[in-house]
Amino acid sequence: MEKYQKIEKLGEGTYGIVYKAQNRETNEVVALKRIRLDNEEEGVPCTAIREISLLKELKHPNILGLFDVLHTDKKLTLVFEFMDSDLKKFVDAYGGDLDPLTVKHLLYQLLCGISFCHRNRVLHRDLKPQNLLINKRGDLKLGDFGLARAFGIPVRSYSHEVVTLWYRAPDVLMGSRQYDTSIDIWSVGCIFAEMATGRPFFSGTSVEDQLMHIFKILGTPVDQQIDHMPFDGSARVWPNCSQLPEWKRDFPVYGGVPLEPLLPKLSAKGIDLLKRLLEYAPERRISAEQALQHPYFDELRTGS
Ligand code: ADP
Ligand code: MG
Repeated sequence: MEKYQKIEKLGEGTYGIVYKAQNRETNEVVALKRIRLDNEEEGVPCTAIREISLLKELKHPNILGLFDVLHTDKKLTLVFEFMDSDLKKFVDAYGGDLDPLTVKHLLYQLLCGISFCHRNRVLHRDLKPQNLLINKRGDLKLGDFGLARAFGIPVRSYSHEVVTLWYRAPDVLMGSRQYDTSIDIWSVGCIFAEMATGRPFFSGTSVEDQLMHIFKILGTPVDQQIDHMPFDGSARVWPNCSQLPEWKRDFPVYGGVPLEPLLPKLSAKGIDLLKRLLEYAPERRISAEQALQHPYFDELRTGS
C-alpha cells in the first residue's frame, strides 16, 4: 500500500470503499477500490483473483482502466483510472435536464463499451448510473465490469444497503439463472430512459414491486404469440415467461402505456431503440452491436 498515498474517500459502494489516491513515484492520480469479502479470514478466493487479473487485459476507451491488482494481507485492492464524476452525479448536476444530443453521445459510448465487453464474453450484471464514470471531456467509461462474476451478484452492498433493483432485467427478477449479454442490455434501456427524463424509469422497492413498475408501463407479459398484434404491441409477448421460477399466475394484468408521453425529449427513433432495449424476451432483446447501428445514432455517424 506504500506505493499509493490516499487523498480522500470517494464513496462506499457494492464491494468496498473507494479512495482517490496518488502514486508516490509517478504522481499519477488513481482510484483505489478496497474489496471487502465476507469470508475475510479465509482470504481472497483464487477464482476471484483469476477473474480480476483477466480484466486488466480488457482495454477499451469506454472501459474504466484497471491498472493494477494488489493482493496483500488477504485483502484485495484494485487500482483504477481516476474519473471526475459518475453518470448519476452528472445528471444531478444538470438538474436532470440533459440535452438530447448529450444523451445520444453518452448512450453511444455506453453501447461501445458494452459491445466490446460482450465480444470478449464478459458480462457486467450490475450496470447502473453510479457505475458509469465520466470525465471533464465528456468521456464515459464503464466501471465494475466483471466484478459480479468474480465476487458474485451483489445482494447487499458493503455498507449493507440493499443493492438497487431498478436496472435488473425482468427475467432475472423472476428467477432466471440463464444470464447472458441480454441482462446488460435491459439495464442500458433503463439508463437511457433515465438520462432522457432525469429520473429512474422503474424504481421498485422490492422484487415484486420492481416487476409491477415494469408491468404498469410495458404491460404484463403474455406467454403466447398473438397473430394480429402489431410490432408496437408485441413487446408484451414473451414466449415461455410462465416457465420462469418466480412467475405468478395471478400477476395483475396491466395493458401498458404509450412511452412517448413519458419521454417527451426522445425522438421517434429514440423511442424505437428504447423499446428494443426493453424487449421482454431476452433472446429477442437487441444486442449492443445491433443497437450501435440503429438509426437513432445516424446523427453521430454523419459527423454533423
Ligand atoms: P457502487 O457500488 O455504487 O458502484 P463503487 O464502489 O463502484 O460504488 O464506487 C463508489 C463511488 O466512488 C461511485 O459512486 C463513484 O462516484 C466513485 N468512484 C468509483 N470509481 C471511481 C473512479 N475510478 N474515479 C472516480 N470516482 C470513482
Ligand atoms: Mg460501482
